[in-house]
Formats: sequence, structure tokens, C-alpha cells
Amino acid sequence: MNLHEYQGKEILNSFGVEIQRGIVAQTPAEAVEAAKKLTEETGTGWHVIKAQVHAGGRGKGGGVKLAKNLKEVEEIAGDIIGMNLVTPQTSKEGKKVNQVLITEDVYYPGDSEPEEYYMSVLLNRATGKNMIMYSTEGGMDIETVAEETPHLIFNEEVDPSLGLMPFQARRVAFNLGLSGKAFKQMTKFVTALYKAYTESDSSLFEINPVLKTSDDKIIAVDAKVTLDDNALFRHKDYAAMRDIREENPVEVEARDAGLSYVDLDGNVGCMVNGAGLAMATMDLIKQAGGEPANFLDVGGTADAERVETAFNLILKDPSVKAILVNIFGGIVRCDRVAQGIVDAYKNMGNIEVPIIVRLQGTNADKAKELIDNSGLAVESAVEFQEAADKVHAVLS
Ligand code: GDP
Ligand code: MN
Repeated sequence: MNLHEYQGKEILNSFGVEIQRGIVAQTPAEAVEAAKKLTEETGTGWHVIKAQVHAGGRGKGGGVKLAKNLKEVEEIAGDIIGMNLVTPQTSKEGKKVNQVLITEDVYYPGDSEPEEYYMSVLLNRATGKNMIMYSTEGGMDIETVAEETPHLIFNEEVDPSLGLMPFQARRVAFNLGLSGKAFKQMTKFVTALYKAYTESDSSLFEINPVLKTSDDKIIAVDAKVTLDDNALFRHKDYAAMRDIREENPVEVEARDAGLSYVDLDGNVGCMVNGAGLAMATMDLIKQAGGEPANFLDVGGTADAERVETAFNLILKDPSVKAILVNIFGGIVRCDRVAQGIVDAYKNMGNIEVPIIVRLQGTNADKAKELIDNSGLAVESAVEFQEAADKVHAVLS
């Protein structure tokens, strides 16, 4: 689950990570109030207005702007709230901005040497360890840094049984070229950041930029936080931060129905029970010359209702040219699934997309009979290859 910048910063701050202070606002009037309050609390003269959407690169798209007085705060907030923000990380339609974060200006006017660093914490799947990835080249795309100056990116891998060791935090500060007070502040920052990452059960932190001010403060100016969905049950307060306005509506509907659904770009919808089988089925579709339109796991209890919900979800995608149902009847019997498919099909009326159903396992024969005798435009297949051939046939 992705969070907004202001929510990510709240979490960081609760673990003692220094952040750029901010207050979220839904209207220009609220933005002005927020700015006044920030001036009282921090003494800041200028403010930054930052669009809150689940996408990076906001600065480049005009979603981060500096305001030098309250009038500008009001004007800029008015411009940004409600706009469709297009950034290198959104679609070309962009994302609608529902709210802005008003922050203190932490780049002191006239500060000749603000340094920007990049820092992320994530799991290195190859080694099975969390790592801190960091660079002196903050404020720009890390992908560009990786391409052009890969030697300026450092990694610190953390042994899960030891946690982040003090010498590791010092190495980060050293590699960033810091000394004196800034060095000390950075070791504190890194230590708190790593603690926040593990204790919040996050799967990604990306702080770009981390700022060093001329008076040697180390501050998180931006925060991209992705929480691990599977751990949300033990963080009810974080779970409540979900903003479904930012999410794919079909994925939201699927989650509410207890289905795992991921929207993809292809033309063949798939309905499968079990994640492994879903992967294999997507391979099969590719082999047949198609592209999967989605990943959909209906789970172990594929009754008529779930099957119908799943069909409905798949059919919401206009690029779907065929649907492949691939169910292994282990716990659930194939004939029950087949009945579910037939019932769902009848309930839904005119489905114009061809459907190929492969049912294998307990009572597969009976299931095939049910489908073949249903009189519906559903084709059955028993073997994987047969299913692939039939998908190929309907696509060509
Ligand atoms: P992103 O573009 O979505 O990554 O948004 P960021 O939060 O990283 O902000 C984009 C850029 O705005 C940063 O790289 C900074 O250069 C600039 N910025 C952010 N906060 C401040 C601030 O307090 N003062 C000034 N002058 N610039 C800021
Ligand atoms: Mn950023």
C-alpha cells in the first residue's frame, strides 16, 4: 500500500526521523491557515506547496512550488488543488490533485551550499537482506544516476539478526562526505530511518532528497513510503491511511470482494485459483501469442458468486478480447466450479468475449460435460496446450 508524502513523513517523524514540517490542506483557505501556523511553529518565512498524489516527479510536473508570502500560498494552492498533475511517473492523463501539503521552506534563502542526497531502504531479494541504498546525487532520478554515474550509488546491507550496526550508520555518513556535526546528525538520521522501516513493516522507503542545510541539519524533504499489505493487520492506524482515490478502482473492488487482482496491459483476461497457477497461465497466454490483461486469483473457494464477481471485474477492462479460466480442482471440485461458471454466464447475459475454460483435477470430466452441454459460447479444454491453442485460435 502506497502512502502520500505527508503520511510517510508522519510515520518517519514518529520514529524520530527529522522531517520538513508540513500541514495538509484541502482548500486555498486551509492552505493559508496552515502556512500561518507553520510560521508560528518554525519561524519559516517562505512556504512550499506540494501536490499530494501517489506519484513521484511532482516537481517536474509543476506540483511543487515555492510561495514567498500568504497571497502566493493562496494562489498556488488554488492552482494545484484540482489540477491534473502529469509527471514522468503518471499516465499522460495525469493524476487529479485532491490535497496539498504546505511545508516550511528548508532551503534557506541565500544558502549557498544546501546538499541533497538520495536514500532508500528496501529489501534486496537476491541476498534476502534489507539494504540502505544511498547516493550523493540527491534530488534527481536515481535511475539516471544508476545509468550515468553508478559509482556514486552505495549500498549498506543489514544482517537481519543484528540489525543496523553503529559502524554501518557511520559508513553511510562517511561515504556521503560528511564530517563534524553533519556526520553525527546523519548517523542519527540513518539509524532512525532504518528503525522506522522495520517497525512499520514497510517494503520501501525512498527519501529523495535528504537535505543537509548549511547549519548541518539533516532533513527528509520528501518521503515515498510503501507499506507491506500483508502486515497491515498489525498496524490499524496505518491501514486507515489508505486513500482509495489514488488506487485503480477495479483493484479496489477486487480487494473488497477478497480477490487478488492486478491490472495489466494485455488482451487476455485470466481467472485462476492459486498464485503459482496464475503465473503459469500468464506464461501460457504469452506462448499462445496473447498478453495477459490481468492477474486474478479467485482463491480456493471458487463458487458461482466469486466466479461472477471475477468475470465482472475482468470484463470492465475494454481491451479484453478473450478470457481464459484455468482452475485446478483440488479442494474445490471441478464440477462445482463449472456450475459456477455456467450460472455466472447465464446471470450476466450477453458476454461477447469468448471464454475458454480449463478445469483439471477432481471431477474434471463431469465439469467438461457440464460446460459442453450448457449451450453457451464457452469452450472447454483439459490440457494446458489445448487451452493455449484455443486462446490462439480466438485471437487470430
Ligand atoms: P518530487 O518532485 O515528487 O520528488 O517532490 P520533492 O518533494 O522531492 O520536491 C521536489 C523538489 O522541490 C526538491 O527536489 C527540491 O529541490 C524542491 N523543494 C522541496 N522542498 C523545498 C523547500 O523547502 N524549499 C525549496 N526552495 N525547494 C524545495
Ligand atoms: Mn522527491
